[in-house]
Amino acid sequence: MKNLSSKKVLIIYTGGTIGMKNTEQGYAPVSGYLLGELNKIDDLNRDGMPKWDFVETDTLLDSSNISATEWNNMAKSIVDNYNLYDGFVILHGTDTMAYTASALSFILHGLDKPVVLTGSQIPLCEVRSDARDNLITSIIIAGEGKAKEVCLYFGGKLLRGNRSTKTSADHLVAFDSPNYPHLAEVGIEVKYNKGALGNFGGNLEYRPFSPVPIGVLKVFPGIQFGLFESIITEKLSGVVLETFGAGNIPGGGDELLPIIKKAFKAGAVVTVCSQCVAGSVSLGTYETSSALKKAGAVSGKDMTTESAVAKLYHLFSMGYTTDQIKVLMEENLAGELTD
Ligand code: ASP
Repeated sequence: MKNLSSKKVLIIYTGGTIGMKNTEQGYAPVSGYLLGELNKIDDLNRDGMPKWDFVETDTLLDSSNISATEWNNMAKSIVDNYNLYDGFVILHGTDTMAYTASALSFILHGLDKPVVLTGSQIPLCEVRSDARDNLITSIIIAGEGKAKEVCLYFGGKLLRGNRSTKTSADHLVAFDSPNYPHLAEVGIEVKYNKGALGNFGGNLEYRPFSPVPIGVLKVFPGIQFGLFESIITEKLSGVVLETFGAGNIPGGGDELLPIIKKAFKAGAVVTVCSQCVAGSVSLGTYETSSALKKAGAVSGKDMTTESAVAKLYHLFSMGYTTDQIKVLMEENLAGELTD
């Protein structure tokens, strides 16, 4: 390993399994506990490791409870400490880690340093925990400074944050980015995939999210779209429609078409993503998806649902018009889709 002792990394602990303590009520995050455990791991302070500081958020959360407020707070900690550190590691629950990684890629515009999200499937306090490797490797990646973007390290893979998705509830290799090459494979060495690393650097700008009303609707055989009409047209600004395959919906859109038109008139944007983990939406390829295009829905192309949700938050929070958002949803802004 390269000597990284001149590098400085800030660890931001937000909650999740990685730092949970075995209490009488089961695993739970306990304030102050994780830092004590990290201080017992000599390897974290070995010669050659980056120096690190540790902060924990006011409330440690199971990541199911993370919302736009926490995304803004995490980003703000990075912005406030940006010049003091070479890289950042965010310790986070696995359940919504891919959403947070996607969100931060939009909030931290112009990022030029690594922000590595990680966590674990088994708490650090357990013998077979995957936390130790995930944490140590993430600190090294953050210190090395090669992946200058929001990324997610888990189980030997470094992934682009806004391309990542949680693929397993119990495997230790729990994430993947089916539509984007891994940024690095980690075995004996950290082998970066130079062609896949992004270059988003410029002047770091903090672009926080507002609490935009966003919804995700997964279609299924026999769905009665009419039941969802009032939610889509009156309550939501952004809708991610998770369709079959390349963007297909039941009934050729007869029922959905007028709803999408009405939603668009009311200022909402319907984005079509796929229920498949790999591949891209291609509206108009089949008769069953043409209706969506005609009605004014936009293609999420090969974006993950996590990323489409984050991008809708971002674009509405930036104050763009509905017409502008429709155009930008189909453009690559932060490495989230393939043009
Ligand atoms: N429920 C936990 C969380 O997402 C799961 C985990 O961390 O693996 O916070």
